[in-house]
Amino acid sequence: MRIATSAGRLVLVEGDHILDVESASGSRFAADPALVFARWNEFGDWAASVDVSGHPDAAPLGGAELGAPSPRPRQVIGVGLNYADHAAESGLPIPEHPVVFTKFASSVSGPSTEVRLPGDTVDWEAELVVVIGTGGRHIPIESARESIAGYTVGQDLSERTVQWQGQPAQFSMGKSFEGFAPTGPVIVTLDEFADPDKLAISTTIVSPDGTETVVQQGSTDQLIFAVDDLVSRLSDIIELLPGDIIFTGTPPGVGAGMDPKRFLVAGEMLVTSIEGIGTITQRFVD
Ligand code: ZN
Repeated sequence: MRIATSAGRLVLVEGDHILDVESASGSRFAADPALVFARWNEFGDWAASVDVSGHPDAAPLGGAELGAPSPRPRQVIGVGLNYADHAAESGLPIPEHPVVFTKFASSVSGPSTEVRLPGDTVDWEAELVVVIGTGGRHIPIESARESIAGYTVGQDLSERTVQWQGQPAQFSMGKSFEGFAPTGPVIVTLDEFADPDKLAISTTIVSPDGTETVVQQGSTDQLIFAVDDLVSRLSDIIELLPGDIIFTGTPPGVGAGMDPKRFLVAGEMLVTSIEGIGTITQRFVD
């Protein structure tokens, strides 16, 4: 199953079609996408009975105005240094426990956005984003998947100067500027993937003249703390709430790890893709 937020309303996605959930379900499920996660299993059962493409009310996905698929997460959790080769390029040791910070919820945005550069050291981090369904506390690793709604694509945009300001550093501040947590375009349930633990992930920079440079190209099978493990460990401390999102870390190839360092400038576009989910696109302005 795939869901998205279209013009603020929850929709099912199938191929090139979307279907409004509130109207197709006779108001059994609300239009507000934020309300569906607490009823995830019930929703999945209903959605499985719906033929989206063949439905008389199906609309083209192409014309949809997509927003963040989990539009108002109460908690946005970030995990740092979760790929061994990214830890190495950052000059930091491989962590023994997940390195956790928050991206404040007001930084969450949708899949196709314009982002104002708040400084001259804004960097990219392509990330698999886990969306929590029913959630809970003390979730065993064996049943972690049952608490997850699905996966989406995210960019953990980071202003490196602010991130590393002071002692200790200010990860949560450097990563929470307006529009710094773009997500989308859809949430995909784990049963849709041949192997949900092995997904190709990439970032491409498109310069104003159209030149494309692939800067990140990795696979989620390189995660130090895999998704099930992360959900279980996080839930031992934090109650994971329906609709919460977890940025699971980035593969190597960020600008701060380059020699010389390279950061985003106005006019550039960032294209972030994950196999089996889709692509999000951010354009940067001064
Ligand atoms: Zn990150």
